[in-house]
Amino acid sequence: MSNLVLDYREEQKKKALSPGEQKSFFKHHLLPQIFFFTVGFPKGSFISVDVTDQCNLRCQHCYFFEQEQQGVLDADGWEQKLLEMKKNHRMMYSCTWVGGEPLLRKGIIEQCKKHFLHNLIVTNGTMPLPDWDDVMYHVSVDGNEAAHDNMRRQRGLYQLMKKNVSRKDLHVTAAMCITSLNVDTIEDVLEDWYTTTYLRSMMFDFYTPIEGLTDDLWIGWEKRDAVLQRLQELKDTKYGEFIAMSERTIELMKSHNSKKVTDNCLFEKKGYSLTTTGQVKEKCMLGPKADCDRCGCVVPYYLHSRVEKKEIVKSTVEHVRNRMRNRFLKEANVS
Ligand code: SF4
Ligand code: SF4
Repeated sequence: MSNLVLDYREEQKKKALSPGEQKSFFKHHLLPQIFFFTVGFPKGSFISVDVTDQCNLRCQHCYFFEQEQQGVLDADGWEQKLLEMKKNHRMMYSCTWVGGEPLLRKGIIEQCKKHFLHNLIVTNGTMPLPDWDDVMYHVSVDGNEAAHDNMRRQRGLYQLMKKNVSRKDLHVTAAMCITSLNVDTIEDVLEDWYTTTYLRSMMFDFYTPIEGLTDDLWIGWEKRDAVLQRLQELKDTKYGEFIAMSERTIELMKSHNSKKVTDNCLFEKKGYSLTTTGQVKEKCMLGPKADCDRCGCVVPYYLHSRVEKKEIVKSTVEHVRNRMRNRFLKEANVS
């Protein structure tokens, strides 16, 4: 690990929130979480917007170009659309800006992000990130350098992406979609991004089969369960919060839990996925052909974990107990 990155990781572990960050955390994160915990997710809490029908890449696993796109709204068109939706849905908490490559039309996001408490931009990392410190970026990583460039059909993209997104000043998370082509590279990728970039965290999805696309990328349940188990071990032993998935989310993604989540997908029930023209898409951002029974998207599992009151109370109690025990041990060692 380079010394600079090592220092940065240590800094992150110790870092206390500044007063501005505390205020923002309270308003944008804690208050909404308490609200959702108390009353559940109102319809319209989550929006996803297909910002553009254009992309500068043509990845092997892309679901986007399987769907028919029929034009695009401009920034004013989107703003009007969102304001109309807000009349019926007061709690439009978060927006995920996707595409295509959403940064090809960043003016839309710049104009409309103010309508949400939380904004997430999913990008392929081929272009510099705008200096917006009020959004989260998810950069899509498709495995180690060889696997990524192969999947994206272009050499040099992996290094270019790392250069563009390794930013201390922004909230960037790497999101790796696990497929049969990159499943053996997970630990390489994790170590590489942990030791050579300034990313805050990394998370993992699995490829969701799409009707009409090859099934070859799906890794099967047995392997998926083994990967999830391994991710939990890596989180517990080395990477901690750098793996930005809670223990409960990981557990819900396993085969014995998955169907109870996807049969009642909260993203489908409580969210809206909007096409490039602002029309509501069936199911979710993956479109109507997504195979929900084998859904690998982390979102429904995360959302489900946020409404399981018994589990939340249990994990909070455990968390507090662990903190108190660690504190006690630390003090006992000092004296
Ligand atoms: S970068 Fe994303 S939108 Fe573009 S082709 Fe690849 S998967 Fe599709
Ligand atoms: S594919 Fe996944 S996220 Fe989409 S509607 Fe189905 S279960 Fe929900």
